Amino acid sequence: MNAEIIAIGSELLLGQIVNTNGQFISKQLADEGINVFYHTVVGDNKQRLLNSIENAASRSDLIIFTGGLGPTKDDLTKETIAEYLGVSLVENKEAMDLIEDYYEKTGQTMSENNRRQALVFDGAEVLPNNNGMAPGIALQQDGKTYILLPGPPKEMQPMFLDYAIPYLKQFGSGEESFIHSRVLRFYGIGESTLETKLIDLIDHQTNPTIAPLAGNFEVTLRLTAKCQSKAEGDELINELENRIFERVGKYFYGYDDTSLANEVMKKLQASDLTLACAESLTGGYYGHDLTKLSGIGQVYLGGIVCYQNEIKRDHLQIPESVLEEQGAVSETCARMMAENIKSLFNSDIGIGFTGVAGPNEMEGKTPGTVFIGIATGAGTKVFPLNLAGSRNAVRSRTVNYGHFYLLD
Ligand code: ATP
Ligand code: MG
Repeated sequence: MNAEIIAIGSELLLGQIVNTNGQFISKQLADEGINVFYHTVVGDNKQRLLNSIENAASRSDLIIFTGGLGPTKDDLTKETIAEYLGVSLVENKEAMDLIEDYYEKTGQTMSENNRRQALVFDGAEVLPNNNGMAPGIALQQDGKTYILLPGPPKEMQPMFLDYAIPYLKQFGSGEESFIHSRVLRFYGIGESTLETKLIDLIDHQTNPTIAPLAGNFEVTLRLTAKCQSKAEGDELINELENRIFERVGKYFYGYDDTSLANEVMKKLQASDLTLACAESLTGGYYGHDLTKLSGIGQVYLGGIVCYQNEIKRDHLQIPESVLEEQGAVSETCARMMAENIKSLFNSDIGIGFTGVAGPNEMEGKTPGTVFIGIATGAGTKVFPLNLAGSRNAVRSRTVNYGHFYLLD
């Protein structure tokens, strides 16, 4: 099933609002394994809307409209689509009751325009609007599905999730009625490297499909299976997942909506270990990232932001000789920061971050030179990194690598 989204509204074309409805619907359809091949944005103009519908109907099986279901004169979506499809408009009793009820309760007088909101296509399925007045509409014609949704996101989103998605599932491809998906999250590998390592799997995908997505310095793969039951979907996805893990398993850190910080918290909680950190270039960012999580207090003790060398020396006991001879940005300094914060806070694990965020060199070291020390009961490891990107990209990546190495 190929889908197309038509967002209607002159405000969209004027740049006054962003087409977040298109984004929301696309993301949900991707989760359902439905391909979206086109997005169209068109103004409140009957002829141009007719042209857009005609185009969409010539190339897509599912056409979803948003906007222009309201009571005002510029809201011409329903009338225009009804004309194109050759269906008549009839008043929907539930919607009309809702509108009358609203006017009675608020004591306002209802204008004739407001009645228009209760009009739906004759013979179509009505999608209730639990957050506004204009109902949505779903209709099958000549093997194509047309869905009309209101413009305001707070009305459109719940209607789409609660009524449009179940409606679409009912008209799924028949023999493969269930769609099951799982997201695999990777860190420390670029999107193109990951794709290269999996290229034959990606090229030959049919069921399950593999969709790579890069963002926020990490890469995810969404595996989507068409199946008849959740168990069958799990089995198909497990098999593909094993093949992926054989090649890039060492970069994998978690499933679905988790984050690196969340996985660190889960790991520490599961093994009942506490953590403390000493932060130089990250300036508190690491602690901030952890303390966004509720439940972290059980395992995270706190940290020291030791940005200047005097603070490293006076509060973390990094010897002057290390700072002078090897520098603050050194393997030794990172090692000592991790070990000293561990003993100072009496934690099970200590982590230390030192490096050059940039844009300028420091101690003759180039921006992106980073050392992360991790001290545990089993000894201390230091991970050297050479990170690319702006000052804040280097700092973000450092934080993420800190989490990633703790998961090792
Ligand atoms: P209303 O009953 O509020 O008039 P409607 O279904 O007629 O609803 P529009 O008049 O097209 O919808 O849009 C109403 C508001 O909804 C817009 O001002 C805008 O804030 C929001 N909106 C409309 N379309 C979109 C879109 N594609 N993406 C994000 N927001 C949108
Ligand atoms: Mg409107």
